[in-house]
Amino acid sequence: MSKKIFAANWKLNKTPEEARDFVIKLKNEIFKIPDFFSGREIMIFPSAISLEAVSSLCAGTDIQFGPQNIYSEKSGAFTGENSAEVAKALKSQIALVGHSERREIFKEQDDHLNKKVALLQNLQILPVFCIGETLAQREAGKTLEICFSQLQNGLKEINKDQRLIVAYEPVWAIGTGKVATKEQVAEVHAKLSEYLSSQGFRNVQLLYGGSVKPDNAGELLKIPHVDGFLIGGASLQPDSFLKICTAV
Ligand code: PEP
Repeated sequence: MSKKIFAANWKLNKTPEEARDFVIKLKNEIFKIPDFFSGREIMIFPSAISLEAVSSLCAGTDIQFGPQNIYSEKSGAFTGENSAEVAKALKSQIALVGHSERREIFKEQDDHLNKKVALLQNLQILPVFCIGETLAQREAGKTLEICFSQLQNGLKEINKDQRLIVAYEPVWAIGTGKVATKEQVAEVHAKLSEYLSSQGFRNVQLLYGGSVKPDNAGELLKIPHVDGFLIGGASLQPDSFLKICTAV
């Protein structure tokens, strides 16, 4: 059985000192749980400014980390952007791509996201590619159409043999406390899994994201094709993040 994945998206939160404090506490707690990493992968996405702080405490451990966004070029005149090459130099193993906040607020489009995923693959950084529908799209019955199109266009030119993580995050469930029902998650994850294998993807894990908390994690993890979670708000405190990680 593959490991369950627990990924913390800190968004625009935590100073480097707070980030270090979180990792120290997390490592202390993990240390008390026998074989913690044998059934789990732990991932942290700090803000870019705190990436080095997280790297300094996680590099060489089983805790993976990486940026919440990277630019599609490795370097150059792109003021304000994050370089995947720099993330790699900081020993990042993972990177988030296409979070709904990037799509909505920063108007990121699928064809650009596709370039980011391809660059990450070239650098041997594992992309965690986010997809999901808005409330209006769900109410219009377009959930699957939107998700498939985000996959098709955002993953157009990538190597399908390389490992990839897809996070299904219904936009209406992110940061709202409104978690998708078990039936909704089960339906979308089953269809996504079917779609990805029909498209030739051979090594994909599927995460659910959207108001995952310690009290709903256990039930959500039992749903077929849910390989783990992308967690925002509840990942900011080590104790709630760890409760989710141990719900398995
Ligand atoms: C997220 O930011 O990806 C997320 C799922 O946030 P939250 O858990 O707070 O809904």
